[in-house]
Amino acid sequence: MEKNNVIHLATPAIQKLQPYLPGKPISELERELGLQEIVKLASNENPLGTSSKVQAAIRDNLSELTRYPDGNGFELKRALAEKLDVDTTQITLGNGSNDVLDLIARTFLSTESEAIFSEYAFAVYPISTQAVGAKAAISAAGSGDSWMRYGHDLDAMLATVNDKTGLIFIANPNNPTGTWFGREQLEAFLEAIPPHVIVVVDEAYFEYVGDPDYPDASKYLGQYPNLIVTRTFSKAYGLAGLRVGYSLSGAEIADLLNRVRQPFNVNSLALLAAETALNDDAYLEKTKKENRKGILQIGDALKEQGFNPIPSAGNFICVDIGKPAMPVYEALLKKGVIVRPVDNYGLPNHLRISVGSETENAFFINALAEISC
Ligand SMILES: *Cc1c(COP(=O)(O)O)cnc(C)c1O
Repeated sequence: MEKNNVIHLATPAIQKLQPYLPGKPISELERELGLQEIVKLASNENPLGTSSKVQAAIRDNLSELTRYPDGNGFELKRALAEKLDVDTTQITLGNGSNDVLDLIARTFLSTESEAIFSEYAFAVYPISTQAVGAKAAISAAGSGDSWMRYGHDLDAMLATVNDKTGLIFIANPNNPTGTWFGREQLEAFLEAIPPHVIVVVDEAYFEYVGDPDYPDASKYLGQYPNLIVTRTFSKAYGLAGLRVGYSLSGAEIADLLNRVRQPFNVNSLALLAAETALNDDAYLEKTKKENRKGILQIGDALKEQGFNPIPSAGNFICVDIGKPAMPVYEALLKKGVIVRPVDNYGLPNHLRISVGSETENAFFINALAEISC
C-alpha cells in the first residue's frame, strides 16, 4: 500500500460511500456570484422563519448553555406523548430525524444484512445503509401512467424481502418526488411483511398532508412491534437549523435505539425550541395554509409554462423539465434562485422546488420563464 494513502484504511463500505449533497447555502452563492438578491428554494425549509414564541424561549434560556442538556429529553417527550397519544417510552429523540434514521441502521443492520428502499427515495437511506456495510437493495419505483411511477411500489418492495433483509425504509410522502400512498396500501403492506423485518415509515412531511386517505403510521404501532415511524421539527415546525427529530416505536425498539444513541444527541436549545414549537398551533396552521397556497402558485405557474409537475403532498414540487436539468439549475443560480437538481436521485431531467413565500415563489417563476424563452 502507498505510504501516504490513508483512504484504504477506511472500511470498504466507507470507501465507496458518496457524501450527501445538501442544497446550496445562500452565503455560498453570495460569495460565488456577488448577488444581492438570492432566493433559496432548495432544502424544503419553512418560509415563515422561526416562530416568535420559539425565539423568545431561546432568548430566555441562553444563560443555561453551560449545562449539559437533559439527555432523556423528558419535557419534550412528555409534550410529544400527550400530543400524539403515545407513551414516552415509545419516543426516541434525535439530532434531526436523520440522526434517528442512522441510529436505526446501526441498530438493525450489519455487513451480513440488507436494507430495502425505493428508487428515487431520500438520499440518507443509502448513506446510513452503506455506512454500516449493509447491502442496499433498491426496489423499482411504480410503473405505468400514474404519478406513482415516481413513488414507492410497495408490492415491489415486499417482493424484494429475503432472509437477509434487516429493514425497509419508506418515505410517505416521499422526498424528492412528493408522492404518497394511502391507508389501504400501508395496511396490506404491514400485514404482509415478515416480523423479522423492521419497517421504517419516514413521515418528515406528515403535518403538511391534506389527503384524508393519508395514513398516520403511528396508529399501527400497537399491532406491529417491528414498525418505526420517524418525524421531524425541521419542516413544518421550522426548526431545520436546530436539528431535532424523533421516532415512535414500541418501547422495546426505543430501548434498543437508546443504547446506541449518543448520550446528549439533542442540544438544550433544540429541546426547548421543539417543545415550544409543538404548542404553537397558530404557527403550524399558518405554515399549512401558506404551503397550500404556494403549492398552487408554483404548480399553476409551471403548468402555464408547459410543464407537468408531479402532484405533491409535501412542501416542495418535483418537475420534469424535459431536458437535462443541470444547465437550467445553473442558469437559475445566475439569476439568484437556488433550487435542487435531483440527478443524484436518478432523475436527471427533474428539478425540486421548495415552496417559499409568495414573493420568493414569484421570483423563481419569473426566473424560470426568462430562462425557458
Ligand atoms: C427533510 C427530511 C428528513 C428530515 O431530516 P432532519 O434530519 O429531521 O432535518 C427526513 N426524511 C425525509 C424524507 C426528508 O425529506
